[in-house]
Amino acid sequence: MRLAQMSVMVVEDHGFQRRMALRLLGELGVVRVFEAADGIAALDALERMDAPPDVVIVDLDMPGMDGIEFIGHVAQRKLARAVIVASALEAALLNTVQTMTRAYGLRVLGCVEKPLTALKLADTLALYDGNEVDAAAEDELHLDAAAIDEGLERDEFVPFFQPQVEIANGKVVSVEALARWRRSDGQVVRPAQFIGLVEREGRIDRLTDLLLEKACAWKRRWSKLGLELRISVNVSMLSLGQVEAADRYQQIVRSHGVDPRDVVLELTESAVMGEAAHALNVLARLRLKGFGLSIDDFGTGYSSLAQLSHIPFTELKVDSSFVTGAAQQPRKRAVVEASLDLARKLDLSVVAEGVETVEEWQMLAELGCGTAQGYLISRPVPGDQIADVVAHWRRPHSA
Ligand code: C2E
Ligand code: CA
Ligand code: CA
Repeated sequence: MRLAQMSVMVVEDHGFQRRMALRLLGELGVVRVFEAADGIAALDALERMDAPPDVVIVDLDMPGMDGIEFIGHVAQRKLARAVIVASALEAALLNTVQTMTRAYGLRVLGCVEKPLTALKLADTLALYDGNEVDAAAEDELHLDAAAIDEGLERDEFVPFFQPQVEIANGKVVSVEALARWRRSDGQVVRPAQFIGLVEREGRIDRLTDLLLEKACAWKRRWSKLGLELRISVNVSMLSLGQVEAADRYQQIVRSHGVDPRDVVLELTESAVMGEAAHALNVLARLRLKGFGLSIDDFGTGYSSLAQLSHIPFTELKVDSSFVTGAAQQPRKRAVVEASLDLARKLDLSVVAEGVETVEEWQMLAELGCGTAQGYLISRPVPGDQIADVVAHWRRPHSA
């Protein structure tokens, strides 16, 4: 979304800092700006607005109602579409607030350290995309099995692609396919809104096949443009319950003339693994056929160390929750380092996801991480934009 179309509210008790924020927003071309000097006044104003603002920038440390309590109210009453936390407080606390806000279902564009600058604000606001439906709008979608089937019927599910870059040389070597639901009204719905439902309704196999199919088709098109990219596709553990899956994926890939060696299947364990024996059967055979197998979201609840010992993984994806902010937060950095050590010992390649800043990129370069993926390089984009993204991406100077 362009800054000129965005509506932003600033909640800040300190008069000078509030005026500063408003001035910076003005300089950036944001014209629809609202302000409040404390949480209660802000909630009051938000309740009376016709539509929630796109972004609320909130100071955490305010007298009366503090920013944390304020965010809780905003999230529960769905009074804004996204927030930016502005604070001079320690990074570990900011991280907790960010995690809390997400858990409430509100989008956090970022935590911006004070003092605010035009650059910091612009970078963070740039992460907002009004077309992407966020949790606050979930209720309005009325998603159910019939809607999913209709979407499948109308061919509304498409992959967007996010580049993966080799840190050592800055080359885009691969792209991850991420499902998007392009609804007839033009809304682009993100997977958090529908994957769970698709899984529960037993349609996940169809979605996985479809994404693999379309990703292979795009790979062929890029190849004709002289762009050789490997592809990664997300596979729910639920899809591995039937032994036919291995043969089916092989057939899909082959029918597009794609070598399974150029395809990585990222395993997300968003639900309980169905039949464990079947899943291991499928995974072993996929590996035999040449597919790469990646353990996604490594380090989070579902992706346990135990899986590493019995599944023939070739790649480990360090979860973005450890990567984003790791340059400032020693605890996150320690988790990233430990993951890299483990991967080295198990001879797995590593992709760090959620790389948002040059500092994170540099830290990963120093730690010897192989591949990076994240907003620093590009957001997920439709297939016809990949060539452009690859052509324009410039590796930041590595320390
Ligand atoms: P994931 O596999 O961990 O994918 C990475 C998610 O992080 C994507 O969200 C991506 O847009 C987002 N992301 C990428 N770079 C950054 C960054 O620098 N900062 C931040 N904050 N986020 C970043 P997305 O596309 O909304 O997908 C969410 C999840 O939905 C995926 O997480 C994956 O688990 C699941 N998913 C997506 N497509 C499929 C699919 O086709 N099948 C299945 N089973 N699951 C899918
Ligand atoms: Ca993934
Ligand atoms: Ca992840």
